[in-house]
Order: sequence, then C-alpha cells, then structure tokens
Amino acid sequence: MSTQLADPALIAARLDRARAAMRDRGVEALLVSVGRDLPYLAGYEAMPLERVTMLVVLPDGEATLVVPALEAARVTEMPGAFTVVPWRETDDAIGVIAGLLGDRRTVAIGDQMWARFLVELLERMPDLRVLRAVDVVGDLRMVKDDAEIEALAAAGAAVDGIAAELQAGRIPLLGRTEAEVSADLSRRILEAGHERVNFAIVATGPNAASPHHHPGPRVIEQGDLVLCDFGGTMAGYCSDITRCVVVGEPDPEVVDAWAVLRAAQQAAVEAAVIGTPCEEVDRAARRVIAEAGYGDYFIHRTGHGIGMEEHEDPYMVEGNSRPLVAGHAFSVEPGIYVPGRWGMRLEDIVVATEQGPRRLNRADHALAVV
Ligand code: ZN
Ligand code: ZN
Ligand code: ZN
Repeated sequence: MSTQLADPALIAARLDRARAAMRDRGVEALLVSVGRDLPYLAGYEAMPLERVTMLVVLPDGEATLVVPALEAARVTEMPGAFTVVPWRETDDAIGVIAGLLGDRRTVAIGDQMWARFLVELLERMPDLRVLRAVDVVGDLRMVKDDAEIEALAAAGAAVDGIAAELQAGRIPLLGRTEAEVSADLSRRILEAGHERVNFAIVATGPNAASPHHHPGPRVIEQGDLVLCDFGGTMAGYCSDITRCVVVGEPDPEVVDAWAVLRAAQQAAVEAAVIGTPCEEVDRAARRVIAEAGYGDYFIHRTGHGIGMEEHEDPYMVEGNSRPLVAGHAFSVEPGIYVPGRWGMRLEDIVVATEQGPRRLNRADHALAVV
C-alpha cells in the first residue's frame, strides 16, 4: 500500500527537513524501517516481516532504501529523493546498512523498527549511540500540510457517513452481539473507501465502562447505551470517531451525563486555538466533567494526534506544554465511565488552523435514541 500523497518533490522536501532536524540534534544517520515514518519519508510501506527494509538518511548526503529484492517491484523509485539498493536472499543486508553508516555512530532509530534489526546491527556495531527517530521526524510529521489535512478530512467524512447511519437506526443493534455490530462497522469502513480497518470498538451496557473494550458475545438489549469508536486508514491517513446511541428509552442519568460530556467536548474543541498548550485542551474538557461531579470517571487523556498513525504526537494530556500550531491534527475525545453500569465517549478529529479549530467530523453530537 502506498499513499496518494507521495510524489518525488514532496518526498525530497520531507527528507531535506529531516536532514535539517538531524543536523540540529547532532544525529549522524536516521534509520527507518517498518512503521509509518517510512511511507512519510519514502512513499513506501514495508511489509512487517522478518526481511530487513531500511531507509538510511545521512544529514549531508544521500538517502538509500535498502529493500529485499523480492519487494523492490513495490517501491516507486524517486530519483533525487533516494536510491534503491535491493538485497537478495543470500546477501548480508545488515552488512549493507553497516557499510552505508561507515564511521557514523550517533543514529536515530524508527520507533516501530523490529528490535531484531537493531540487535543485529548492534552486534556488528557495538559502539552505536541510539536515539529515537520520533525526536527527529516527530516535529515534522506532527504538522500536517494542506494535502494531508484534506486526506484526514476525506477519511473523517467517510466515517461520518457511517455514524449518521448508526444514529438514524439503519445499523441494526437490538438482539445482535457486539462482535456482529463490530463486523458490520468494519465492512462499512472498507465500503466507504478505506483500505484498512484499524478498530471498530462496540461496547454496550456495563462493557462500555472499559474504554478499549474488545467487542464480544454480549447481546444488545433494550435500554442499552451503545458506544461505537471506529476508524481506518484511507489513502494513507486515519479516521477515528466515537458516537453513542441508546436502544429504546435512555436512563435520565445517562441523558444528563451526555449533556455534560457534550459540553466538555465542545469546551475542549474551542480551547484548541493556535498557541494554546496541548494540556489546556485536556484541562478544558476535564474542568466541565469535574464540575458536574464525574471527574473520577474520566480516566484517560482528552486526545491523541492523528495522521498516518491512528495515535501519534501531539497528545492532549496534562504535562504536555507544547503549544498548538497550524496543522496539528488530533482527537478530542473526553469520556465518562461508571464501572459496572455504563460508559460514554464523544470523539471528533480537530485541526488547529489560523482561522481557529476545524472539526473534521460533522456527525451529530446528540445522544441518538434508536
Ligand atoms: Zn482510544
Ligand atoms: Zn476513537
Ligand atoms: Zn481516538
């Protein structure tokens, strides 16, 4: 799978920005393998297998993509951006990488690289000083350009359509299991144009009090609060939305709590203006929920960055004082979870822009009764 956004000029520009970040931090080589840094910097996604794929970026020189020969046909060559070096089954791929590094010793390593590749490299070069690649490319990936924002918006619109079907009662719930509804959502995510389903959480009744509940055999009953949190990857960029519906008459306590949650989510979105520290977005939601007496039941951060990965920097969490800049894209998803009874969450993807916070999800924010 590749992204539609990978044209050679864009990739070359990203590599140049990565090189500047490497020089700033004294990094002598950047090594990127499986994970999302590779499609960002080379327009190519490696299969997460045991054969070594490695993009080697040097601060003042070439970028080289070392790739298994049998995968080379899937690589789009980008002259001016990087050179492709295929290795055959009997070649020493780690040796090729060591050769490209030469006497460079301070290297930044992609966060999701297999430990195996790094261990084999360290056996060859025991004096390597290893840093995290996120400290080099994280700042770049965090700030989305216009094409990336439009890709996120398109993915968001696709899941909005599914949320609208759910809220209109056109996705059957009563009498089905969580697992069946989850499979239904997954099928719709693909039909809506995503190439991959990342998750389709369906948590009902007391199960929803666990934020990442795995959809199981519980059958949806009259009166259940049903939490659906789903998303996938479309043209290389992720969607992620949470909406809740009630089957039949909602409990008045649930209706009141939803009003609190909706106000908290709105307050956090409004707080997400350029220059505001990420932690202030979290505080804005938390304040509303705490004032209503549910503070102990909001048990996670308010949001996560989103892009090529479903969770990435910047995180909307206490302690993250990073100020928002135009192009930061992230979820705003406060929740209230009462153990043994019910749970609720309301999630949109938001982009910080010069004109203020822009929601990429437009599905209705009311607690739908179906
Ligand atoms: Zn989550
Ligand atoms: Zn979500
Ligand atoms: Zn999320």
